[in-house]
Amino acid sequence: MIKNDKKTVLRIAIIATMMVLTYSLSGCSYLQNNSPTPLSTKTAEAVETTVWPATETSKPSESVTPTGEATVEPLSSNRTAYQFEVDLDYNKHRLDVQQTILYQNQTGQALAEIKLVVPPNVKPRVFALESLTLTGDVNMADFALDGNTLTIHLDQPLSESGSVSIAIVYTLTPRLQGGILGYTARQLNLSDWYPFIPPFDPDSGWIIHQPAEVGEYLVYDSANFDLTLNLVNPTGLTVAASAEAAPLDLDSYRIIQNNARGITFSVSDQYTLLTNTTNGITVKGYIFKGDEVAGQAAVDYTANALQLYSELFGMPYPHQALSVVESDFPDGMEFDGLYYLSDFYFKNYDGNFQNYLALLTVHETSHQWWFGVVGNDQALEPWLDESLATYSEYLYIERYYPELTNWWWDYRVDTYEPSGRVNLTIYDQSDLRVYINAVYLQGAVFLDQLRQALGDDVFFGGLKTYTNTYNHQIATWDSFIKIMAPDPSDAIKALLQKYFE
Ligand SMILES: [Zn+2]
Repeated sequence: MIKNDKKTVLRIAIIATMMVLTYSLSGCSYLQNNSPTPLSTKTAEAVETTVWPATETSKPSESVTPTGEATVEPLSSNRTAYQFEVDLDYNKHRLDVQQTILYQNQTGQALAEIKLVVPPNVKPRVFALESLTLTGDVNMADFALDGNTLTIHLDQPLSESGSVSIAIVYTLTPRLQGGILGYTARQLNLSDWYPFIPPFDPDSGWIIHQPAEVGEYLVYDSANFDLTLNLVNPTGLTVAASAEAAPLDLDSYRIIQNNARGITFSVSDQYTLLTNTTNGITVKGYIFKGDEVAGQAAVDYTANALQLYSELFGMPYPHQALSVVESDFPDGMEFDGLYYLSDFYFKNYDGNFQNYLALLTVHETSHQWWFGVVGNDQALEPWLDESLATYSEYLYIERYYPELTNWWWDYRVDTYEPSGRVNLTIYDQSDLRVYINAVYLQGAVFLDQLRQALGDDVFFGGLKTYTNTYNHQIATWDSFIKIMAPDPSDAIKALLQKYFE
């Protein structure tokens, strides 16, 4: 039971059925010439709407109530708190989940409904709801699960200071297709795997987007997480997580992660753990057997990048550890406290820095700032984090391999002759190469020219102000430009015109 259950009111337990559709991967994309396979083969799918009227299905308190003591940090900061009790059968690729969300209204207005994003209910649809229960200051009238959106209609508005506890019981059955939520013969990845409350915009409401052909589409508030993971048959399994997975006993782990964009983990019977601890932060590489040399290099590059970016961006890396997970899917993908990187890059590592294993490890590491510390709307302003992450590769080279700066521009950017405007949404372009050229590469060109126009002191001072101003908030392009160039010169206006129309 949760600790801060308020006035307990009606419970509504509703049984839903599972629908299964297909999926493919979206990731942090690089798409260089030797990319192993084309990315993002997602196709639009029709969204089914299923509504369960409470009058037909409501029944008193038959839902399974999540067990375990409330250990999530309470709502002192108004930050939403997520608690999970997960039973994972690795061999059967099935998870039984009891999730509780402690939510205090943060929107500044009374709410007639609360919306949740349910990523596992689309692409792939591996989510089967068993029950949904709401307790607290108001009751649930009914709810609707429509694609990736779960809408809870309240019987009366939740006041500006009101709070509720939402208990959700469900199963997940990841597919044999790899990706960030799926499994292969050698790993099971669980990312964007649970329902969560999205950010709220006072003007436009809940920020919920749909997947596209390219790019990422989710937007996350920072929140607190506490997960107990019970492995049905733990023999030989290693848990790689976005925070320390502390053993509770032989078959259970507890993962606590506060003030983060999410909680994610990967399980395998084939990981070798490689580490690098520098200045109190441990980088943990979960590497497939045979790739240890490249794996250690990835871990070491990551550790160096954490040090450099803590300095350059004026904000220390906010966690104790960062997990690097070698993955069976193309490219890479950043999460707060963990990133995936394709085995392709490990297999092709030649021991030198001039390759994509090196570039992408530092790229992904920089996302701990340009995604984790400073959030943004990845669907509508994807360049805001991706251009900074791509340019951060250059900053790393400038510091550690200054003789390679020209190589980086040639190899990473100029060879693709990027052109056009930077500010595409993920819905503007379905050709991944064109999308990357604009959002990532033109974005990096723009940032470099902005730096030249501002001078290093102003540019890096602006980056530090940006990270500290939007620390665990969600920034926008307007806010970035206001900080970097509050009184833009004609030269900067011309740059903005050229790259952003
Ligand atoms: Zn990226």
